[in-house]
Amino acid sequence: MLQATKLSNFAILENTTTNFSSSQRGAMSFYSAKDFDGHEQVSFFHDQKSGLRSIIAIHNTTRGPALGGCRMWSYASDEEALIDALRLSKGMTYKAAMADLPLGGGKSVIIGDAKKDKSNALFEAMGKSVQALGGRYIVAEDVGITTDDVAIIATQTPHAVGLAKKSGDPSPVTAYGVYKGMKATMKSRLGHENIRDVKVAIQGLGHVGLEILKLLFEDGLMTRSGNQVFVCDINELAVKKAVENYGVTPVDVNKIYDQDVDVFMPCALGATINDSTIPRLKASIVAGCANNQLAEDRHGSELQMRKILYAPDYVINAGGLINVYHELHEKTYDRQRALAHVLNIYSTLQEVFDVAAKNNMATNRAADQIAEGRFRK
Ligand code: NAD
Repeated sequence: MLQATKLSNFAILENTTTNFSSSQRGAMSFYSAKDFDGHEQVSFFHDQKSGLRSIIAIHNTTRGPALGGCRMWSYASDEEALIDALRLSKGMTYKAAMADLPLGGGKSVIIGDAKKDKSNALFEAMGKSVQALGGRYIVAEDVGITTDDVAIIATQTPHAVGLAKKSGDPSPVTAYGVYKGMKATMKSRLGHENIRDVKVAIQGLGHVGLEILKLLFEDGLMTRSGNQVFVCDINELAVKKAVENYGVTPVDVNKIYDQDVDVFMPCALGATINDSTIPRLKASIVAGCANNQLAEDRHGSELQMRKILYAPDYVINAGGLINVYHELHEKTYDRQRALAHVLNIYSTLQEVFDVAAKNNMATNRAADQIAEGRFRK
């Protein structure tokens, strides 16, 4: 059973044994759950008035306070929401460690439909939840949450970053990091980093994907004449925009894996690198912004066996985190300083590739090993 400690009108439930119904047979121990990774603290919040139901997971604070976005999603079950919070918060610990930031890993989820269930009261209640943790967790935006929502959260707590008048939307900075990271990966795998000499497939043209396309185009990636860029998105409007602006070739969402390209860029969902897609890839590089690109860790080894160089997702997509770190730690946020910092992603990836090559291991494993050395003291 969930055990609540009352704090103002919030119920904080920490590291308790939970009773999962749905697919579980009987009681499931939280501590032996597959996705529990020694998380320091997991708090459940409920606010009667606004209807807020949220979970804040703090994975590790060895390097500093846990920073991570808040995701709003219509989870099919409470268990699914908890699993998401556990996995995402762990990912943030690795991301912060690899970016060498004095931050730990945390993440929060709000259970609800971002299109229907938002209200000022909901985000104020979320702000109070964050404040209740006293700065151990710092909140930012994630899927389903906008900078406007973060602004409401920030009325209740100073522990919120990514505000519109400060670092704002992290997507362009994330895209810049992915663009530089792609060049580092090209240098290691192809021996050059001339964007005009590669063919690229981009899966997902959202905030980050479209910005990556712009940067590649500005760097000489050929489009109309060379037919070098293949794109897909379930959003037809996004594809139309990319075709009009850059002359890219649209392909069906199910055919993006089969394109004869050098670089495959997952910029939509997680788990798109899996048993059924890997054999279809013709690319020698996988480098994109999506979180949790590998369906399972072993898929990193599958890529390695096929001589496909994989830029580990949490290393190459750390630009957004580096961006909010600058808002947090500088009196006045400066975009140019944040972008200069993001350039480190190039050398961090080189280090990952070197360790992987020296030890004949998959690049995701090499990144994990370096990160763990930095937060498991
Ligand atoms: P977004 O929601 O703006 O874009 C995602 C795009 O993917 C949308 O256009 C969507 O229509 C498309 N899409 C969804 N399913 C698809 C499918 N099956 N095939 C093709 N396209 C599909 O999100 P974003 O901010 O651009 O982020 C993209 C990815 O990068 C996410 O995984 C996110 O977690 C990750 N990421 C983003 C940031 C950031 O700064 N925004 C930072 C780190 C990681």
